[in-house]
Amino acid sequence: MARCDVVVIGAGLGGLTAGAILARAGRKVLVIERSNSVGGAASSYKSGDLFIEGSLQETSDPHHPRDPKHDALTRAGVIDAVKWIAAGSLYEARGGPLEAPFVMPDDFDAARQALTGRFPQARAGIRQLLDEMAAIASAGPLAQDDPALMHSPDWPLSLSQKLDALFGGDEAVKCAVAANLSYFHHDPATLWWMHFAMAQGSYLQSGGRFVQGGSQRLSSALARAIRTAGGEVLLRRVATGMALDADGRAGAVTHSAKDGSDSRTVECGRVIGNAAPGALAGLMPQAAADRLQASYANRAPSISLFAMTLGLGKPPREFGVSAYSTQLLPRQLQRLSDYSQGAKLMAAEPGGAMPPMSLVDFTAIDAGIPSPPFVLSVYGPDLLSNWDSSDMDAYREKRGRWQDAIVRYLDSLYPGLAGAVVASSFNTALSVRQYLNAPEGAVYGFAPTPPRSIGQAFERSPRTAVPGLYLASAYAGFGGYSGVVQAGGACADMILRED
Ligand SMILES: Cc1cc2nc3c(=O)[nH]c(=O)nc-3n(C[C@H](O)[C@H](O)[C@H](O)COP(=O)(O)OP(=O)(O)OC[C@H]3O[C@@H](n4cnc5c(N)ncnc54)[C@H](O)[C@@H]3O)c2cc1C
Repeated sequence: MARCDVVVIGAGLGGLTAGAILARAGRKVLVIERSNSVGGAASSYKSGDLFIEGSLQETSDPHHPRDPKHDALTRAGVIDAVKWIAAGSLYEARGGPLEAPFVMPDDFDAARQALTGRFPQARAGIRQLLDEMAAIASAGPLAQDDPALMHSPDWPLSLSQKLDALFGGDEAVKCAVAANLSYFHHDPATLWWMHFAMAQGSYLQSGGRFVQGGSQRLSSALARAIRTAGGEVLLRRVATGMALDADGRAGAVTHSAKDGSDSRTVECGRVIGNAAPGALAGLMPQAAADRLQASYANRAPSISLFAMTLGLGKPPREFGVSAYSTQLLPRQLQRLSDYSQGAKLMAAEPGGAMPPMSLVDFTAIDAGIPSPPFVLSVYGPDLLSNWDSSDMDAYREKRGRWQDAIVRYLDSLYPGLAGAVVASSFNTALSVRQYLNAPEGAVYGFAPTPPRSIGQAFERSPRTAVPGLYLASAYAGFGGYSGVVQAGGACADMILRED
């Protein structure tokens, strides 16, 4: 039987980061991925002539020494393997209670100036908000050891509670500072304020970045780092079983070709799960699976996202798209709390309200994405419960009707855009579940809700209830590129420390 030190189940960003650090530290690493390529959500590919970016709109700049990804990507050996292209600003917010578009810079000082210039009546609240976000983002994971931060009475608040306390009923300023809410969650009333401060603060601390050529380049660089260090990355291989030894410790993984043939088992000292805990539980004996599931029983899954890619005959700026990232707040969203309604809209037929959306014009920066067609991506909050997978023809028809409705809506804001669409693709929460084997189609692991106690705030960890099994994914920390890279680094560190 083959043997290695660590088997990683899944080649998403978290698993690849942990695998690369461990391989470079001399461990014999085997990564098993069911898809045709590495990256999980962090993938880009072509469908005909259309370039599709599976996930990356923006991440913060990992070159900043306090960025959550800095340490892990440096130790994985890939921080300079790709080009991190500046997004120019964090976003341009339009619609909702904003009378005119507001550009949110990706820098604390410039953000302070832009916000106070536009909302002078909220000057004191803006200063306090940005000062606190800067302190929390700069402390990063060490925030838990900082008494000034963790003993502040505000630490367990939701984003709504925090913004209500600072801005009262001034909904325009609230929407301006959190227009990109779906980067983290869908409901400000259940989003932990500290998580928002860390994640949004990271963008304002170091600036928004896109990986030139698409997120696949980062994922492929990590896979290369694993192979260069002597590890193996197997594609089109599905982990089908995990055996535990007499002490209940994970000690072997069985994997097979996608059609179930060619089953092989590899013994290992440790197993790292990049796949979701629910998917990992399905691989192990019932008692261990129950233990694993029970340990996450009080954690709700995060939201999912839809991703529509439009290939246009002309660059989006010719129709009035004026930023790399535009956050479109629909007409009915007059209070930030209305954002929560957006995720469930696709349960019904289109015709009523539109969800909040994030437009990404890849032609606005040196994104390294081939054109024509010129790529405009549209992302927004979605839920698996919006889609019925029991009749796939009916699913595809409803998805088509939503796609048409969104294109018509965009055309009402950017006249002429609909007529320029020459290619398109539309992934929903159901696609996320199918492609990533992610129960509930969650894209950020567990929902970043406010913790009930300080202890619970930081109990997200690579360690699991099953000895020998670790997590390196959004479920081990927080979601998003920063969250999963940091979780991958923490997982590798835990294993190296134990060794
Ligand atoms: C549309 C969209 C837009 C997004 N936009 C952004 C953004 O702009 N900025 C940002 O920071 N984040 C964004 N995110 C979130 C971010 O992409 C994810 O949080 C992150 O990539 C998740 O990484 P992960 O390592 O946890 O796992 P995943 O990417 O979920 O990877 C898990 C891997 O495990 C594999 N797997 C599962 N089961 C098995 C098995 N049995 N055997 C073998 N392999 C298996 C899957 O095939 C998959 O490759 C977005 C996500 C989506 C979907």
